Amino acid sequence: MSRGWRYDEAVGDKPMHELAVTESLLEIALRHADGRRVTDLYVVIGQLSSFVDDSVQFYWDIIAEGTNAQGATLHFQRVSAEMECLDCGQRYHLSAEHMACPLCDSTQVRLVCGDQFYLEAIDVDSERVEERPT
Ligand SMILES: [Zn+2]
Repeated sequence: MSRGWRYDEAVGDKPMHELAVTESLLEIALRHADGRRVTDLYVVIGQLSSFVDDSVQFYWDIIAEGTNAQGATLHFQRVSAEMECLDCGQRYHLSAEHMACPLCDSTQVRLVCGDQFYLEAIDVDSERVEERPT
């Protein structure tokens, strides 16, 4: 059930990327719920993502109101960034205190992923629906 709500009408000149992704979460959840009531959303946020859990939750409470996902609980899972060493090809997870390659100690490394933001799964009234990352 859609209220025909559009974010560009509601935010004015404020930064809207968190609102936009929150709206996207809602749209995906409602589509997969297929008319059933959404109770939980499992959201994966990369370690280096700029998205802030609190902001998403804030927007969620506003835009989910009146939909089948109203009152659903958002679960945020932070995942560590994955790096690749350009010297030896080693792939590893970025830790806070150590950015260099753990194998050869090279600092010639690149980010493979770490700023992702996606809906991993939702719970609806009676069953869980998987949403794979694209
Ligand atoms: Zn290396």
